Amino acid sequence: MTMREMVDRLNEYAYRYYVLDDPAVSDAEYDKLYDALCALEEESGEVLPDSPTRRVGGGLLPGFEKRTHLAPLFSLDKAQDMEALLAWRQRTDKLIAELKLPRAEYCLEYKFDGLTVNLTYEGGLLTGAATRGDGVTGEGILEQVKTIRSVPLSIPFKGRMEVQGEAVMRLSVLEDYNKTAAEPLKNARNAAAGALRNLDPAVTAARRLTAFFYQVGYIEGKTFATQREMTAFLKANKFLTSPYQKMFADMESIKNAVDEVEQTRGTLDFLIDGMVVKINDFATREALGNTQKFPRWAIAYKFPAEEMTTTVEDVAWDVGRSGKLTPTAVLAPVDIAGVTVRRATLNNYEDILRKRVKLGSRVFLRRSNDVIPEILGAAPGQDETALREIEKPANCPACGTALAEVGPNLFCPNSLSCRPQLTSRMVHFSSRDAMDIESLSEKTIALLFDKLDIRDIAGIYTLTKEQLLAQEGFKDKRADNILNAIEGSKHPPLANFIYALGISNVGKKTAGDLAKNFHTYEAIA
Ligand SMILES: [Zn+2]
Repeated sequence: MTMREMVDRLNEYAYRYYVLDDPAVSDAEYDKLYDALCALEEESGEVLPDSPTRRVGGGLLPGFEKRTHLAPLFSLDKAQDMEALLAWRQRTDKLIAELKLPRAEYCLEYKFDGLTVNLTYEGGLLTGAATRGDGVTGEGILEQVKTIRSVPLSIPFKGRMEVQGEAVMRLSVLEDYNKTAAEPLKNARNAAAGALRNLDPAVTAARRLTAFFYQVGYIEGKTFATQREMTAFLKANKFLTSPYQKMFADMESIKNAVDEVEQTRGTLDFLIDGMVVKINDFATREALGNTQKFPRWAIAYKFPAEEMTTTVEDVAWDVGRSGKLTPTAVLAPVDIAGVTVRRATLNNYEDILRKRVKLGSRVFLRRSNDVIPEILGAAPGQDETALREIEKPANCPACGTALAEVGPNLFCPNSLSCRPQLTSRMVHFSSRDAMDIESLSEKTIALLFDKLDIRDIAGIYTLTKEQLLAQEGFKDKRADNILNAIEGSKHPPLANFIYALGISNVGKKTAGDLAKNFHTYEAIA
């Protein structure tokens, strides 16, 4: 295979995986070809401009360069409620009648809550990328954008053009990232914006962003008649487009569709903060023109704020793997963005004091931007006499040991026999990125601890089939599954083993780096 063929094939695999969500090959097959390409590039000293190896990011950048967009990026007029949306429709209808234009068809799309990016392609290659900036000039972020796997580095269209889209961090990716991050990210929007406006493309790459494209802002040698046509062009050129684009002829249907999305947006894997309504036909757009600030042919409907108030009924202190106590507020159930919220994090005792949260307090709560709902603070003007202080625990709620204070946090120092510390260490040890003992669920581990006195990792490896079969709910098959999984975990990749040890501050990435450095178990020992 020539280098050109290898690059084309890898890019096609990435397109199938990241854009179509329909993988053509296994990860192992992809990696094998990728490694072969790396070797060939090394050997020949040549790297094609759209080689996937360019997505890795080549070290710290000196700064952001200003980039002037080929065509200015417009911002949209906003409708804060349904009445404002209806008023917009009436204004455009009146103009359409005056100008004797055909009856309008409306295109409804998600309004993504991420960072707007404007990409430049020339000769079929991605040659530039910028933030929105003031709409005329933005900051160059080409190396950062290249790390977004769903963004094509080369496209079939060969003319010069600019496409606009929104870069986002999927909520599942954020959650995954936070499992091992030294500093967890709170908010998918800021995580995406911060990743792209970071001078180290390796940081951008680690956040595994994606980007949805919806607009060709500038193009040479091609015209579009409708939004539908433009979207089809974007798809044909391998861009990931919005998963939601629907056409409507009347306002009642638009209103119903907006309501439906608003009710169910909590189930999406990315953040949206509203819906965009655009007139589909470009001749009509042109005839309607712009106001001083906005195009008249589109409007952004903003969902109402996602902050709600509810009452704190109780506070539960959970003991983690490191012995750290984390307070979780138990709330009167409240619906936010279609999801019922019953618990929210309070980080630590200092956080409780700072936010003036007490038992019975009405608190502001924010969800959807955050993985775990967060209490923003107590609502003002409450009858303080009806509230009770949240007590700072003196002893571990699980084992009764006197707690130690380290900075703003409380710790249970009984690391040798405090039940939640021991069980969560075992859960961590068997997790997928560690020893990958799939059938050892949290529930099973709790049972092993309580009934069989399995208290640590070594104990897991002493389990016998007789012991398991003596437990309620264990039949031959389930016991075999567990024992086979334990047996199968005895020779894990080195990185997994290091991670499994659960050393503080050694997350998945550090474990991988250490493994690369040491190569073998012997070298570490
Ligand atoms: Zn304890």
